[in-house]
Amino acid sequence: MDLDLAPEDEAFRDGARAWLAKHLPKTARRSRGGEPAGETPGDRLGALKAWQRTLYGAGYVALGWPREHGGRAGTPMQQTLLNEELVRARAPGLVGMMGVQMVGPTLIHWGTDVQRRRHLPKILTAEELWCQGYSEPGSGSDLASLKTTARRDGDEFVVNGQKIWTSNAQIADWMFCLVRTDPDAPKHGGISYLLIEMKTPGITVRPLIQMTKDAGFNEVFFDDVRVPVENVIGGLGNGWAVANTTLMHERNMLGSTTQTQSMFEGLLRVARSVTRDGRPASEHEAVRQRLAALKIQVEAMRLNAYRNLTATLKGRKPGIEASVTKLVTCELNHQIAATALELLGPYGALYRGSKHLVDDAFWPYEWMFSLGLIIGGGTAQIQKNIIAQRGLGLPRGKS
Ligand SMILES: Cc1cc2nc3c(=O)[nH]c(=O)nc-3n(C[C@H](O)[C@H](O)[C@H](O)COP(=O)(O)OP(=O)(O)OC[C@H]3O[C@@H](n4cnc5c(N)ncnc54)[C@H](O)[C@@H]3O)c2cc1C
Repeated sequence: MDLDLAPEDEAFRDGARAWLAKHLPKTARRSRGGEPAGETPGDRLGALKAWQRTLYGAGYVALGWPREHGGRAGTPMQQTLLNEELVRARAPGLVGMMGVQMVGPTLIHWGTDVQRRRHLPKILTAEELWCQGYSEPGSGSDLASLKTTARRDGDEFVVNGQKIWTSNAQIADWMFCLVRTDPDAPKHGGISYLLIEMKTPGITVRPLIQMTKDAGFNEVFFDDVRVPVENVIGGLGNGWAVANTTLMHERNMLGSTTQTQSMFEGLLRVARSVTRDGRPASEHEAVRQRLAALKIQVEAMRLNAYRNLTATLKGRKPGIEASVTKLVTCELNHQIAATALELLGPYGALYRGSKHLVDDAFWPYEWMFSLGLIIGGGTAQIQKNIIAQRGLGLPRGKS
């Protein structure tokens, strides 16, 4: 592992840092737990789309995509440096994240030229937003048991069924959706990966309110929804393989080690700013033990991320790394936020509606939100199964 940056990587990092200092709007840096500050959800969405367009104009969206698909053919090292700079500058996440980091790479891998030309440009500029229609009531971890059907009728499929926990369906223009196209095929074989336009007649989106108070995800109902046959990606009945390409990219997206390091830095600031037994909490033995235990995990995670990066730069194929990183970072984020809340005492629990918010309610928001991320994209237990079976070669447990 070589931790020294090449001169061109250093120049890239400095360029990104200077660009962000100049172009990132101050209002964009607010915590998602904070007060809406008089803006409507529509204003906020418009601002986030404009921010993605600006970033894209500067070449900082989909850095690693091939140039012919609108990327910059950047190296994994440059992507890592850019991610670090975005977190450092407290830039908001991409509003079109599911497009750029999930369905976009899947289309590059599995799509036809026509499908790529139709969708990739609008994914990059956030002109069209995407949501992921995988989970159903009764089909989460056991995703291949999904029941939503797509019956062929001439040049169209007729889709019927229900999805659940669909993040961003309320703002999405398109869904990448898993449907059962062959009810008689074996469980994994009868599934296809279908792109569905959200304004198609017969689709109903019903928001679910999360404990953060945001309506971040939804139930989506399909009632005789007609979808052109050419919207299948990767071939009829091949949806399971295509879905797994997207899932690998999703785990990479959810497991941001930089974000976790930044949260730990924030926790240290909290520990220095509050008192325990008449002195800064950061000097209190019990608190120091807790911080040290977390720091050891953060550091191990950081070095593991560098080890993975080195392996990628040397051309090794990805294995279970995304599962390890997703498992560790999501659980650590929750532990870090929980420690901050404990240190802040009653003030830590204040949320929207209070005049006395600490850090713009960053900590209670992250505490609640990170719980969801331990489940979303495959639960912690499922990641452990993947690591045990595919990584360590352990036998499958009997159920
Ligand atoms: C914040 C958030 C956002 C989400 N966004 C989306 C989205 O945009 N699109 C989408 O399609 N889905 C989304 N989901 C759904 C998510 O993918 C599922 O919740 C997840 O896969 C778990 O499925 P489930 O909820 O049905 O739980 P279940 O699968 O019923 O699991 C219940 C419990 O049993 C455990 N368990 C199940 N099977 C096993 C096993 N084999 N071994 C050990 N333990 C097991 C699980 O770990 C869990 O603790 C989101 C979820 C969350 C929380």
